Amino acid sequence: MKIKLIVLSILCLIAVSLALSFFVFTDTQYRPNEDVIDSLEDIGVVESYLDEDITPEPEPEPDPPATPELNYSIFDTTNEAYGIDWFGSGSSFEEVDGTIVAVERENVTVLVPEGYEDLAKAHVEDLITCNSLLSNFMGIPFPKDRIVLKIFISKDGSFQGSQNRGMSFYKRSQTAIDLDLQDVLSNSPDGFLYESSPTYCANTHELTHAFLYNAYIPYWANEGIAEYSQSINQGGVKDYIICTDSGYYTDELYDYYDLNVTMNYPTSMCMIQEIVETYGEALFRDMFQEILLLQTDNKLRIGTTSNYFVYDILIPSFGSSITAILDKYGIEEAVYER
Ligand SMILES: [Zn+2]
Repeated sequence: MKIKLIVLSILCLIAVSLALSFFVFTDTQYRPNEDVIDSLEDIGVVESYLDEDITPEPEPEPDPPATPELNYSIFDTTNEAYGIDWFGSGSSFEEVDGTIVAVERENVTVLVPEGYEDLAKAHVEDLITCNSLLSNFMGIPFPKDRIVLKIFISKDGSFQGSQNRGMSFYKRSQTAIDLDLQDVLSNSPDGFLYESSPTYCANTHELTHAFLYNAYIPYWANEGIAEYSQSINQGGVKDYIICTDSGYYTDELYDYYDLNVTMNYPTSMCMIQEIVETYGEALFRDMFQEILLLQTDNKLRIGTTSNYFVYDILIPSFGSSITAILDKYGIEEAVYER
């Protein structure tokens, strides 16, 4: 009888310990409910579990970085994502294969081949200040939601800058883009972006075209506006061209080209410069307002552009005496008469 009682007691103890161990085991595998937590808190065994998984120690705050990280978004993309399905023709516009990365801040996007993100960041910073510089200069806002610059590597090693549909493009050779990146990383004084500042826009030329992408400004004025914009917003880069009454001087004095026959950047720049010096910056900004109005009405898309540009933009902005300046650079009345 006594033995039976002892055996029964041992069996009961085994059963109870099995039940208890199962209870603890199962609750440590899953998140216990509040009642179980209350009951388990009295048991030292599960305290560490509760500390770890129910009320974890907050992560220590990381030290703030020495220079605050700028809010760049960098992500893989495709040309199609930016509506870039055409930006030139012929083999010289063919881009080497590879991942394209978009680097963005504020309303600026720069697309570069993967690995050139630091070059893109420097352009993003330049273009953000360019936006306000050029809109003050022209008195008009940038006509699109985003300023987009695409830098790509040509298959044939050729390079050039261009603008299409309000987007700027820098086609670079592999050697040239590697030097561009190196210049940024080493902050080389020879670098394209070295002088970039709130008063110096390294991207002035193509961005000036992009501001006016929807205006059909005749070729004889278009490059002159971009070059003159550089002389103002990219201080120093056009100092080598001196406009005189009898021609333009670089290393020697050249006659002005007949802009009706031959496009010539310095001649066109000197024509625009003479217009600004004669009529003043305020009227020059009025000219862009007139361009903007015509863009809104879509009138510039009709017919030949020279007569719209002279009769609907230049004469309303500056008065009919403007025609004497145009004549000096080869744009005589026959070019724009209606
Ligand atoms: Zn140009």
